[in-house]
Amino acid sequence: MSGAKLGHKFWERKALDQMTAPEWEALCDGCGKCCLNKLEDEDTGDVALTRVACRLLDDATCRCAHYENRHQFVPDCIVLKPSNLDTHAYWMPQTCAYRLLWEGKPLPDWHPLLTGTAQSVHDAGVSVQNRTLSEFDIPEEDWEDYIIEEPT
Ligand code: SF4
Ligand code: SF4
Repeated sequence: MSGAKLGHKFWERKALDQMTAPEWEALCDGCGKCCLNKLEDEDTGDVALTRVACRLLDDATCRCAHYENRHQFVPDCIVLKPSNLDTHAYWMPQTCAYRLLWEGKPLPDWHPLLTGTAQSVHDAGVSVQNRTLSEFDIPEEDWEDYIIEEPT
């Protein structure tokens, strides 16, 4: 995240659908939690997080290894937009900046936009760094053995 061309505290001044593409992207804190596989209870709608990660998630950096062309490998990876946040917010991590702003809440003080460094999300213990297993190694029928609480 370069910070270039981002308006000063733009997230406090602009609605989500008024942000530029770089501003929208910069909201992502790099926690990696949305790239963990989830299990949804069909009856209750409850969503459980597992530490079994998408095949493209880099466990060390918590970033997607092929973000720009990820749909070649993971066609159903969601492209989050202001127009589809209503649909997805319920399963998104509690600390996700998109969800927080959608809920009208402020960014946490460890957010890289406030600290100026991507490392702060890891130092705060809210990312999935060094916590994940690859979906290549864990068959889907075993995912329920790897349910975790969201690190917050
Ligand atoms: S959960 Fe939100 S802040 Fe974290 S990596 Fe995903 S989109 Fe970014
Ligand atoms: S394709 Fe990339 S962005 Fe999408 S879930 Fe997988 S690691 Fe995350």
